[in-house]
Amino acid sequence: MTTPAAALPAPAPATNPETTEFWTATADGRLLVKRCQDCDSLMWYPRAICPACSSLRTEWFEVSGRGSIYSYTVNYRGEGAYQGAPPFVLAYVELDEGPRMMTNIVEASPGDLSVGQPVEVVFHDTGQGPWLPRFRPLRH
Ligand SMILES: [Zn+2]
Repeated sequence: MTTPAAALPAPAPATNPETTEFWTATADGRLLVKRCQDCDSLMWYPRAICPACSSLRTEWFEVSGRGSIYSYTVNYRGEGAYQGAPPFVLAYVELDEGPRMMTNIVEASPGDLSVGQPVEVVFHDTGQGPWLPRFRPLRH
């Protein structure tokens, strides 16, 4: 785990009963997704009903925290908690297990990033319980 070295804000997310276990795991440095017990689909974002087969039989599954950049952009004008923040990278990361998460890429200059680049999760403390899963270039 790490805390932000740059001034990227880490606002606390809105949680609900469907996501409580996910956010609790982030405080332990674990990244969870839901898995359908009927069709084995992994799903992101966390939800009670499988979007592939509508099953209610879903369970939490811990993923490796590794993936690759599927797409990204540099955001120069943040809103809300990000207003006044330095330029930051908003990305879709495709987890090695398959689901794609919208997230931030941190600990890297935007010019050094590329689609397909391997990344790993880091967690940033919101100071209010949940930690935000973000990704940084995979270090060898
Ligand atoms: Zn299913």
